[in-house]
Amino acid sequence: MNLKIEDLENYFIDMGEKKYKATQIFEWLYIHKEYNIDNFSNINKDLRNKLKEEYTINFIKIKKREDGTGVKKYLFELLDNNYVEAVLMYHDYGLSVCISSQVGCNMGCKFCESGRLKKVRNLETYEMVEQIILIEEDIKEKVNSVVVMGIGEPFDNYDNLINFIRIINHPKGLSIGARHITVSTCGLVPKIEEYSNLDLQVNLALSLHAPNDTIRDKIMPINKVYNISKVIEALRKYIAKTNRRVTIEYVMLNMVNDSKDNALELAKLLKGMNVYVNLIPYNETKNIDFAKSTRIKEFKDTLIDNGINVTVRKEFGGNISAACGQLRSKEV
Ligand code: SF4
Repeated sequence: MNLKIEDLENYFIDMGEKKYKATQIFEWLYIHKEYNIDNFSNINKDLRNKLKEEYTINFIKIKKREDGTGVKKYLFELLDNNYVEAVLMYHDYGLSVCISSQVGCNMGCKFCESGRLKKVRNLETYEMVEQIILIEEDIKEKVNSVVVMGIGEPFDNYDNLINFIRIINHPKGLSIGARHITVSTCGLVPKIEEYSNLDLQVNLALSLHAPNDTIRDKIMPINKVYNISKVIEALRKYIAKTNRRVTIEYVMLNMVNDSKDNALELAKLLKGMNVYVNLIPYNETKNIDFAKSTRIKEFKDTLIDNGINVTVRKEFGGNISAACGQLRSKEV
């Protein structure tokens, strides 16, 4: 499940076979959920044997599931005994899954439990695809939307991320509409530009979390590399090119980034841009010394008064540590 349909087509063309065999393989894997190559009955035996010699279908495992109200958190064990987590959320508009893209994360955001473990490695494409397949199998329902916002910085694993998107979006793959796929970045500027060149209508979310460099420097080390003006410039170009609205993620940290002046500064920064701001109530954890803001409503109202579209994220899963920034890369 590391291969896009185009990779399989090239594989078959190179051996002098018809390229439609790639579609047949995709149908076995993603539509019929058949993972035993011997059972691919419309592929002849010689070809099946060749496939078996060259490919294996490996599966990560669900190690644990915790259920909360409107949310399930999955701990996956990878083949090398690393762990990642994903979260399934039941919304009014359908089921969405937040998946991980790396084991650990090197971005070091100060408020983030997920990033306390430094990056061990990137996830392979199949490890991202299978988080969704295993959740769908577990709940016996189809997932409607996917956000890549779990453990890891997805743009730090760009090629595997794009392969993953192409597989889950393909009609013979998991058939999840591009408009229902969102990638969240902490602001890797060159990758935002690359992402804007994609031939798919996928969405972008930016973890901004501060209205100025003084605050952002303190809570997000990446700001020392790509500061706010560079990131906003990259977003402006992205929006101009794709004509798509970008989500601005803003975690509300008590007495850090949540004053009225901060809201006014944020409104000024985003004025006229095709964005909406998603305010995230912070989930306090015992390991990290930030508190949840008590001024979310005031902050939201100030943004609205200044012409900025804004929502407050529904609080999911705080009780089972399934909330944003609370996923782990370890079984502890
Ligand atoms: S918020 Fe995201 S990018 Fe930042 S450390 Fe956590 S997982 Fe990494």
